[in-house]
Amino acid sequence: MPDTIAAIATGGNVSAIGIIRISGFDAIAAADKAFRAAAGIKLMDAENRRMYCGRLISAEGAVLDFCMCMISRGPYSYTGEDTVEFHCHGSPVVLSEALRTLFLHGVRQAKAGEFTKRAFLNGRIDLTQAEAVIDLIEAETPAAAQNAAGQLYGAVSAGLESVYSELLNIMAHFHAVIDYPDEDIDDFEMQNYHSLLWSAKNELSGMLSTHERGRVLRNGIPTAIIGRPNTGKSSLLNALVGYERAIVTETPGTTRDTIEEKILIGGVLLRVIDTAGIRKTEDVTESLGVARTYDAVSRAELVVFVFDGSEPLRDEDFSALKAIPQGVPIIAAVNKSDLPQVLEHNELAELGVNYCRICALTGEGLDTLESEIKKILPDSVASPSGELITNARQAEAISKALDSLGQAIDAIAASVTPDALLTDIESAITAIGEVTGKVMRDDIVSRIFERFCVGK
Ligand code: GDP
Repeated sequence: MPDTIAAIATGGNVSAIGIIRISGFDAIAAADKAFRAAAGIKLMDAENRRMYCGRLISAEGAVLDFCMCMISRGPYSYTGEDTVEFHCHGSPVVLSEALRTLFLHGVRQAKAGEFTKRAFLNGRIDLTQAEAVIDLIEAETPAAAQNAAGQLYGAVSAGLESVYSELLNIMAHFHAVIDYPDEDIDDFEMQNYHSLLWSAKNELSGMLSTHERGRVLRNGIPTAIIGRPNTGKSSLLNALVGYERAIVTETPGTTRDTIEEKILIGGVLLRVIDTAGIRKTEDVTESLGVARTYDAVSRAELVVFVFDGSEPLRDEDFSALKAIPQGVPIIAAVNKSDLPQVLEHNELAELGVNYCRICALTGEGLDTLESEIKKILPDSVASPSGELITNARQAEAISKALDSLGQAIDAIAASVTPDALLTDIESAITAIGEVTGKVMRDDIVSRIFERFCVGK
């Protein structure tokens, strides 16, 4: 029987309310030792999911807090076990004292993600829903949160469930024919399953095709602002972010390190990196910054290239351009449009990149820059409800299932023996089962829950 665990579920900061969560066989008994309900009721007799007001008492008998307590008996609780929540005043001192008290009553500290892991192990949620919990907590945009909420509600599992059960039916039919030859069961004709396998394959391909958008939704697009020093890269980042994040000076080479900020353009999260600028330098610190610039550029999936429109092109502009890997979309922001412009249209056109003129100091032209950026971003889904696969592990397993289904379809075309076909179908079932956790691999499960915070 798993032991009883407890943790502060609301982090270590001062807040209006702080919640302590307890789960396990002894949760209610341990909580009862630390709680005196104002109504005089024992927690063992309390109703499920009803808030009781009362005093939280230390093992030494001191009153730690006046708080609310709620119990939720298993199996209809988050973890599937008996759980108790104390809703205390959000003082880190009160919460840690309350936790210490519970430890003295035989409860132990929960590990990261242990509540959700128990919910999974007790069948309250599947693995995709557990992953949605962490995605929801870590979501950086409203759309990413909505997508995670949809997955928490079971969007990924629902998409896979019908494929999984259709494939199981094929296996069951085959084995039924072999195991019960005297029963009146239709012969196992592989051809009969051809169209079913195709539609299963289409269903999975449809899910997998959302992964690129899902990845962008969750992780954003690494975007590098590059150009030679003093063209206004930091000023542009500040203008985009809306406040002064980067240090702006008239001395070339001030941004010696890379700075990352997140901005939303057209509902898409850009992880914008302001780089040190690319130029030859003898300064050791600055040259480290330049090296990091090259590193940031090599990882960028979008580059905003800043030119100084008030000055002619220089060799450094061209060497910075050359640093951008092939295929990475570039948008040129020709800055300092408030000054007399030296950079002519034909010179910029020759560079072969889309450009717009901006003034980072006044913000003029930023709307055009944003619409240029939007044009090359993948279509964002305004209100995703869980249909976007954001998780690389899930995408990889779905892709494995797809390969196996492709081989199964080829096997039918090649008229192989049914058991060869079934090997492919079994691999597809295993891969789908790994996504939802029906087929459990301990290493995968451990890795997933390691990402959680304590108390979740
Ligand atoms: P970085 O080295 O490319 O990051 O350039 P900074 O953002 O530090 O800017 C270098 C200098 O150019 C600073 O003095 C800025 O005030 C100035 N600057 C930046 N943008 C503009 C602009 O749009 N117009 C004018 N006139 N000056 C600008």
